[in-house]
Amino acid sequence: MAIVITAVIAAAALAASARWAWWRPSVPGLCVLCYHKIGTPPAGSKLKELWVSPAKFRAQVKYMLDNGYKTLTFSELKKYYDEGQNPPEKSVLITFDDGYENNYKEAWPILKELGAKGNIFVVFNTIGKANLWHNPASEAWVNMATMEQLREMLSSGVMEYGSHTMNHPHLSSLKLEDAAWEIAESKRQLEAAFGREMCAFAYPYGDGAYVPAIREKALEAGYTFDFSFKQGKTRWPWDRKAMTIDRLFIRGGDNNWDLALHLTRGASRL
Ligand SMILES: [Zn+2]
Repeated sequence: MAIVITAVIAAAALAASARWAWWRPSVPGLCVLCYHKIGTPPAGSKLKELWVSPAKFRAQVKYMLDNGYKTLTFSELKKYYDEGQNPPEKSVLITFDDGYENNYKEAWPILKELGAKGNIFVVFNTIGKANLWHNPASEAWVNMATMEQLREMLSSGVMEYGSHTMNHPHLSSLKLEDAAWEIAESKRQLEAAFGREMCAFAYPYGDGAYVPAIREKALEAGYTFDFSFKQGKTRWPWDRKAMTIDRLFIRGGDNNWDLALHLTRGASRL
């Protein structure tokens, strides 16, 4: 009997070790959380893990604040970078890709209420429209935030923006000059719309982050920071010429234990 119980416990421990990367050592570096949609996935969504429920998002933000993490905006990170300072050790950037209206309706009120800050990578040509780059057969079109909603969030001091291109293409599948246009034109348009510098860029699908010619276009366009889709924390001081900033992808099914592992280990699973 004791052998059976021991075997069951060992099997459970093994299963937990495969699911959660608690056995990884803690690593230093900047944490940049990557969210997409806050809400309930529509029926038939094949990208359910991109949806985090408002209750989970609230619990995650609360967990970070309760555990001494400080949420930064892009401009706050830029100030540290420009001054050659390291951001405080428990700094976190909460980022949202694409610019969905649910960021305005669900995420922004939670951040405001709890006293945290966030950042959205906006796809300029879809502002006030829908996620037109998705095939609606596999991922339903939902509303993107309008210019008015984006302005309201910005003026609250709780949300800042970066660019996620004009049209959300796979940058490496475009001609280099067209990829360069997507990268630079979105910076110009967003700066004109919001009257402030856009210092951050995120590659759609993470595509192009590791193509040297494309990355060079992002740096040439004048972005201080470029963010990939690669899982991990980024060592600081950050070597801008050498690499993009990694992120911690938060899945819809993640709980606060996953979040704790992301923040400390740079990954919650294998
Ligand atoms: Zn995207």
